[in-house]
Amino acid sequence: MTAIRTCVGCGARAPRATLLRFVARDGALRPDPAMRLAGRGAWLHREPACHAAFVARRGAIRSLRATPARAVRAALVAALHGPEGRA
Ligand SMILES: [Zn+2]
Repeated sequence: MTAIRTCVGCGARAPRATLLRFVARDGALRPDPAMRLAGRGAWLHREPACHAAFVARRGAIRSLRATPARAVRAALVAALHGPEGRA
């Protein structure tokens, strides 16, 4: 049985293994590649389009029970692309 999670970029449901987890901690969003960090997690596809949609969206992120600022979301996307990443 495969765990299904919802991408907070495109809103589609997908097997957890195809998504990237991140968590909200201390006012920031942090990638959680090992899926071990405590805190409220949310999920994104690996596709840049989903990352851009996540940065551009408005309103609360239900799975995080928070409304991260656009800059905070952009910082997460940059982190997901690695240290040299550009959102
Ligand atoms: Zn997506």
